[in-house]
Amino acid sequence: MTFEELGLSQPVLQALDEQNYTTPTPIQAQAIPLVREGRDLFGIAQTGTGKTAAFMLPSIDNLRDADKQTPFKSCRMLVLAPTRELAGQIAKSALDYGGFTGLRVQCVVGGTSVGKDRNKLHRGTDILVATPGRLLDLIDQKAFRLDGVEILVLDEADQMLDLGFIHALKKIVALLPAKRQTLLFSATMPQSIRDLAGRYLHEPEHVSV
Ligand code: AMP
Repeated sequence: MTFEELGLSQPVLQALDEQNYTTPTPIQAQAIPLVREGRDLFGIAQTGTGKTAAFMLPSIDNLRDADKQTPFKSCRMLVLAPTRELAGQIAKSALDYGGFTGLRVQCVVGGTSVGKDRNKLHRGTDILVATPGRLLDLIDQKAFRLDGVEILVLDEADQMLDLGFIHALKKIVALLPAKRQTLLFSATMPQSIRDLAGRYLHEPEHVSV
């Protein structure tokens, strides 16, 4: 199996070439075609399996295909992550994988200047990676809206629940367009995660590695 066979676009393939990725990992081989088809996804995968590329690569191509303008004070793809470190890594991956597409990427996390985040987001972005608390602060301050979101990713959802982000998540999801694609990744599958998936995913495909 090659990345070409998974139907990714030339600019994305070029970025993968630069990263020296030659072969999709198992989660990538499973997830990429399903995400490209627009399906919701419930993925059980640990860090180190290549799950970031599994959701980011096909989402970049879905954004390219939909060909909408970057929304003012909003984003087209929202990735929520439990920690600053993970959010930073995901944003870096988005920049690496989307480097030839012209898509804009921003990252907002707690513990940094909110004023700077307000400025970063003023003109909108294509992909936003955020921790839930900081994102809610920006929404409360009317510095950001969620009405542009086409794709939602909940990464390491089990960790987000363990860190007490359930109320923030509920508030955020309530503000999203109902018509969207939702991708949920978790390392474990306790009942709380099944419940979350049941509430937020529409007829999801399951992938696990
Ligand atoms: P992740 O599980 O998303 O944290 O990714 C783990 C590491 O694997 C990251 O350093 C990626 O850059 C790398 N990686 C992801 N997919 C591939 C691939 N298909 N080939 C080689 N390295 C990869």
